[in-house]
Amino acid sequence: MGRYRPVIGLEIHVQLSTRTKLFCSCSADVFESEPNTHICPVCTGQPGALPVTNEEAVEYAVKAAYALNFEVHEYSRFDRKNYFYPDLPKGYQITQYFHPIATKGYLEIDVDGKKKKIRLRRLHIEEDAGKMIHEGDSMNAKSFVDFNRAGVPLVEIVTEPDIESPKEARLFLEKLRSIVRYIGVSSGDMEKGALRCDANISVIDEKTGRSSNRVEVKNMNSFKFVERALEYEFERISKAMESGEEVPQETRGWVTRDKKTISMRSKEEESDYRYFPEPDIPPVILSKEKLEEIRKSLPELPDEKKERFMKDYNLPEYDASVLTADRDLADLYEMTVKLTGRPKETSNWFMTELLRMMNEEGMEVGDLRVKPEHFKELFELIDSGRITKNMAKEVFREVFRTGKNPSDVVKEKGLEVVTDESEIERILKEAMEKNPKAVEQYKNGKKGIMGFFIGQVMRATSGKADPKIVQRIFKKLMGE
Ligand code: ADP
Ligand code: ZN
Ligand code: MG
Repeated sequence: MGRYRPVIGLEIHVQLSTRTKLFCSCSADVFESEPNTHICPVCTGQPGALPVTNEEAVEYAVKAAYALNFEVHEYSRFDRKNYFYPDLPKGYQITQYFHPIATKGYLEIDVDGKKKKIRLRRLHIEEDAGKMIHEGDSMNAKSFVDFNRAGVPLVEIVTEPDIESPKEARLFLEKLRSIVRYIGVSSGDMEKGALRCDANISVIDEKTGRSSNRVEVKNMNSFKFVERALEYEFERISKAMESGEEVPQETRGWVTRDKKTISMRSKEEESDYRYFPEPDIPPVILSKEKLEEIRKSLPELPDEKKERFMKDYNLPEYDASVLTADRDLADLYEMTVKLTGRPKETSNWFMTELLRMMNEEGMEVGDLRVKPEHFKELFELIDSGRITKNMAKEVFREVFRTGKNPSDVVKEKGLEVVTDESEIERILKEAMEKNPKAVEQYKNGKKGIMGFFIGQVMRATSGKADPKIVQRIFKKLMGE
């Protein structure tokens, strides 16, 4: 490492996939809905409308908190965070400021084979704001507001500044997403705004021990962009420090098109928000029994599953972590191994062919047409020598696309290995007749010529002959 070292802390908003919003019965599934079709007097802040806390949202928040090793509190409460913005109909956001539902958690990430704990300061429940839509150019600008998202439940998770590189920030977010998806509290989809991250970065000059001001970066809607934006900021701040410039404390936005960040505003002070306790909503009280019940309902989490995969299936750590990053993928793998009985080979097929094709097609496990039985059949076709490993890849691609049985694909495409020795012999004889010189050369000791004849057979069979058989027959014909 050089003279400068980044210090990074993240604030993450995770949208909870509850049926309804946080304080009213409007549907919370608002992504891409017609604007202002999921609204009511409560979530648009009409006078006299009374919020009622969604118990499912509280339960989801508790689940997330336990999965992230938080201390969950029996008592928490909502507060009002006051500010003006057109997408905030009430003029305040309901959040948990003074008494968050959970504090002091941690998340362990894997950095180049080393485990590292990132401390989590707090997790609290809050409502989302609406959304502004801007149209037209500066001469003819129009702005609209869509309140569908107003009141959708979120948890905000705040880390301690324990993250030491942009890459660690990405790894942290990937792990966090994996966990919220495992426990089923959020889709974790960054592109759809279900997981949003503000990144704080400051830089320490190791030589002088001085630290820069802290910069907050917003507007990043993919893990890659978080990493890139932080790399960009680290370089920008380090350079400024090197030339003795002051780095102002400010909020900056990532502009994907230009691959850079731009200044948005100087940081607002905490007191600007004039927080005070929300008078219309009773505190959230959770009994020890209730908390215990929720904690026990958690499924096996990615780290535990990974350990178990390494132990039960004797997989390398790398395989185990790839296969367990997504719960559905892990389930599919386990079902497949039950049928094939071959953990490592199954893993190889998953990690190469299956995941590659899923990436290419942008598919998730839920969209797959290929089934565990298909792998079993594919392995049997290879074992019996009916197809080669290379052909199996082609068969697999077709099974992946169509969901047909591998043996049917083999038949339809005529992919079977040519094991018919008389056919191979016929092709070889023909090739020898046509190339007497080559035969002569072989007999005079130029053994490499055999490759030429094998090539002829491969061409005639479109690569479906078994080279070992061809070699044996060739030698027989040559009288060896
Ligand atoms: P604020 O109240 O200004 O939002 P917080 O103390 O709540 O600041 O911290 C917000 C986020 O900033 C946290 O994720 C924290 O880890 C991070 N953070 C705090 N100090 C630093 C720092 N010196 N450099 C980078 N990030 C920091
Ligand atoms: Zn509503
Ligand atoms: Mg803060």
